[in-house]
Amino acid sequence: MTSSPVWHPFTQHALEPVMKRIAKTEGAYLVDEDGAAILDAISSWWVITHGHRHPVIMDAIRRACETYDQVIFAEYTHEPAEELARGLIEVAPAGLKHVFYSDSGSTAVEVALKMALGFFHNTQKPRSRIVVMEHSYHGDTIGTMSVGERGVFNAAYEPLLFEVDRLPFPTIGEEQATLDAFEDACRSGEVAALLIEPLILGAGGMKIYRASLLTELKRIAERYGALMIADEVMTGWGRTGSLFACEQAHVTPDILCTSKGLTGGALPLAATICSREIFDAHLSSDRRKTFFHSSSYTANPIACAAAVANLKIWKTEPVGERVAKLAERQSEGLSRFEGDPRFDNIRQIGTIVALDLVVPEGGYLSEVGPRLRAFFRKRRLLIRPLGNVIYLMPPYCITADDLGRSCDAIDEAAGLLAAGRL
Ligand code: PMP
Repeated sequence: MTSSPVWHPFTQHALEPVMKRIAKTEGAYLVDEDGAAILDAISSWWVITHGHRHPVIMDAIRRACETYDQVIFAEYTHEPAEELARGLIEVAPAGLKHVFYSDSGSTAVEVALKMALGFFHNTQKPRSRIVVMEHSYHGDTIGTMSVGERGVFNAAYEPLLFEVDRLPFPTIGEEQATLDAFEDACRSGEVAALLIEPLILGAGGMKIYRASLLTELKRIAERYGALMIADEVMTGWGRTGSLFACEQAHVTPDILCTSKGLTGGALPLAATICSREIFDAHLSSDRRKTFFHSSSYTANPIACAAAVANLKIWKTEPVGERVAKLAERQSEGLSRFEGDPRFDNIRQIGTIVALDLVVPEGGYLSEVGPRLRAFFRKRRLLIRPLGNVIYLMPPYCITADDLGRSCDAIDEAAGLLAAGRL
């Protein structure tokens, strides 16, 4: 047990070992207090895109620190936020025109839900039904837990969570059932928005669906005047092979949420980017139509400067090529597991690969997860399976050797498990 006063997220302190301190980060590595280099194969919870401490981002942060700290973001504005908003509109799917800042993926989604409800409240008959996909994850605040998959993680909080409509996850060949369920819900005329992780549901188990489904869902939403909110908190910034996953479905959502890779992962920042119609619905001489949302640290100038630097990296460095190369290497790495009976559902989208370990004890809270984590820790790898789902989502600077090492460790872990030695 730990004697530290720190309470860590998603950590059972009664069972977890005392944690090593990380003394430094570098490229694809975390270096611990003893100098051991640990390969960050999940990009420190999916935030680090280019690699830890990319010099362009670090420089931008240093320079911003010479002139700014936090600045109130009502009544006044500042250049890093303005420049970033202009840059985001340039790279976001066409039709997204206004940027609202917050600090995390969860708040980006909360803001999106409030924008959607505000839009209907201000312009027409209020609508409040939210439709989501089963197995979705959107954060851990009360609002985002409400729209996410329910289960052991939210058991204690259930009484406070609101109800939403849930579409069946579209397994290949069964897409029509998902589309029909959405259309049924829309017929009520009460659906404000479909909130969806485009192309891959992340924390819900790295579940991939076809891009064409997203295209179809958008068509249905449009037919019934419902909005589409794309939660690109995980999928944004190249993870699925394109800058935003929506691009692969040729879809412009009405609202897009981004965080994590927005600053290259260096500082907390989020943006909820919306259409002109949604912004305009909040323009009025009637102050009751104001968008009533703020957090103290909205648009922190240093974080915005880091995000501007991230945009610069995307413009000036061959990031797209790096992403494509990584995707290719991931695919090669996975190929060794094809047909291996210890694994099921071997899958990939862009830079993300996942595979299900065939074990009798499935589920998020089964002990197989912590045992695997401990094994990977011994191999100096940061890999955190979601139950029996093992995935890799590394920074784009990871080397072929390091990817190979990760696959070797997955192979070895599966062998040990099968032999009852892990
Ligand atoms: N949405 C998605 C799709 C996510 O993957 C996450 C985080 N894993 C969130 C929202 C919440 O983001 P944060 O942890 O920054 O609040």
